[in-house]
Amino acid sequence: MVALDTISHVPHLHASGHGGSCAHEAAHAARAPEALAEAERQCGERGLRLTPIRKQVLEQLYATHRPMSAYDVIDGLAVSGIKRLAPVTVYRALDFLMTEGFVHKLESRNAFIACPFRHARGDLVVFMICEACGGVDEVTSDPLTRALSAIAEDHHFTPRARVIELQGACAHCRDDKMPVS
Ligand SMILES: [Zn+2]
Ligand SMILES: [Zn+2]
Repeated sequence: MVALDTISHVPHLHASGHGGSCAHEAAHAARAPEALAEAERQCGERGLRLTPIRKQVLEQLYATHRPMSAYDVIDGLAVSGIKRLAPVTVYRALDFLMTEGFVHKLESRNAFIACPFRHARGDLVVFMICEACGGVDEVTSDPLTRALSAIAEDHHFTPRARVIELQGACAHCRDDKMPVS
């Protein structure tokens, strides 16, 4: 597990306004095989198993560049020929993937995204969510993590999750000011 020392801005999932497959989506998809292999390796290291269902759910989240609800995951898997999974099964798999740091939850949308970055599990994650195109960029910041930890400590508060969500317009949508279909 690698803690990032500096602010790192990593284009995580970024949907551009032109629809279909874009450079960001291609980059995201290209990460999938490596990220899945890495998840399997880390599970092995921790004495855990990336069961077929856990792996299928993670693969499904890598298949798109937008956050997915549990039902989107079920639908996506059904389209790729996997029998319709019960929601509870998918939620269990998502819980496992979140606990192990392979997936994040966007609380405001009740949706999930795969995280290919090997940051520490307790790291603060900042999501910048574009309200126009639905794209999401993920950023981690050590100074921000420390600041938030200090605030929580001052208040004797134990955070379950350290996620900050910024809603707004991504650079692409802000610059283009184009209606997005
Ligand atoms: Zn992450
Ligand atoms: Zn946008």
